[in-house]
This record gives sequence, structure tokens and C-alpha cells, in this order.
Amino acid sequence: MVYGLISDVHGNLEALHSVLAALPRVERLLCLGDIVGYGPNPGECLDALRDRPNFTCVAGNHDLAAAGRYDLDWFNPAARAAILWTQEALSADQRSYLASLPMTAQASGALLVHGSLPEPMEYITGCREARRCFEATDAALCLVGHTHVAEHYRLRPGTRFCERLSLWSGGLISLKEGLRQIVNVGAVGQPRDGNPQASFGVWDTEAGVIEVRRVAYDVEAVQAKMRQAGLPRALAERLAWGR
Ligand code: ZN
Repeated sequence: MVYGLISDVHGNLEALHSVLAALPRVERLLCLGDIVGYGPNPGECLDALRDRPNFTCVAGNHDLAAAGRYDLDWFNPAARAAILWTQEALSADQRSYLASLPMTAQASGALLVHGSLPEPMEYITGCREARRCFEATDAALCLVGHTHVAEHYRLRPGTRFCERLSLWSGGLISLKEGLRQIVNVGAVGQPRDGNPQASFGVWDTEAGVIEVRRVAYDVEAVQAKMRQAGLPRALAERLAWGR
């Protein structure tokens, strides 16, 4: 089975189009949440994804907030302003689709969750959180998003061994070493690891590898749309830096 892996599209249609064009032929597309929020085209991104055959997506905090299912107090002022804008931009049908997204999903034995376990909206930012996540699941492979940082964690079962490796400029991960691994494929629509290019992955279960790749998109076009929509300036500016 060959899966495409995406996360944190955040209403950035230019980045999504670049990623979909760069994806090889995949049998199923897996999304780790946050299709909407921050960006100027939430509805268009949602429709482009949900209309695809073989699309699986778990809920992100912005997805649930845009659907009125997550407390806005959890967000900083800029994110909150963008969510209120997003709620207006989406149709009732699009909001109910977001509300229906599951908190976790499975694919070929891997666990899919936006943030971590046991709390799906927590962030994995180090080995401590990575271990906690694995204590809450039997899955050998976890696919996550949420931090917008492309990286992976390797843990040896029954030991304290934990390695954290950056996928800042992409990379190839072998899944055949008897380790438990957490892979964060990074963000399509708002990278925060210093590389402004959109991030995505391809998981080939037969070959036992995940390849993470970066692809350029028209950042300035998205920034112009965000300014025109009246979305917070800082959210547009950060796209150029990937921070
Ligand atoms: Zn996000």
C-alpha cells in the first residue's frame, strides 16, 4: 500500500495544490488534521480533499474550533481571530463535515492522531511526550501533526532509548529496524521549522519506508489573499519565514 501523508493544510490552497501535484500516485491520502484555520481558503481546501476517493482525516483543534466544537480560549488572539473568520467562510455542510472527523484513525497498523496520546490535542515536542504517547498505544508507528515541525522519534521498546531527528529538509525513514516510531510529516500550509516550503510524506508499506519531501509554492499570492481578507498580518508574514 502506498499512502500520501499530509497535515496542517490550514486553508492554504496554493500550498495544497503544490503538494497534490508533487505527490506520486498513492492509493490513499491520510491527513493528520487542521485542514482549516489561519489561511484564506478553508472551504476550497476542504472540498479539494473530501471529494477525493480514499481520503482519511483525523480532527485537528482548528477543525473542531471552526465547527464550534472546541473552546476558543485555547487559542492565542491571532489564531482566535482567524477561527472566527473561518467559521464565517465555511458553509453549514462544511462545518458539519469538520465536526464529524474522528479523533484517531488507523491505517495498516499505524495510529493517526493530530497531536499525541492520551490527549489528542497535546503537542509532541520532545522524547518525554513521545514516550507518553507510546505508553497509550500498542501501535509501532504513530503519524502525527500539530506542531508544524517535520521530525521523527525512534524509541526502542522496553528501554529508555529515544532519538529525535529533524526532517527539516525532508528525508527517508526506514520502518524496518524493530523500533517504535513517531513521524510528524510537518505542515502543508504553515511550516514552523524554519523551512517555508510545504511539507508532506509518502509511506510505502511494502518497502517499509516513509519519505518526507518539501515543495515550494506561491507564498506571496497567499499573503495577498490573507491581507485582502483582513486576516491578522502576523499570520501572513510568518509564511515567508516558515516560523
Ligand atoms: Zn495546525
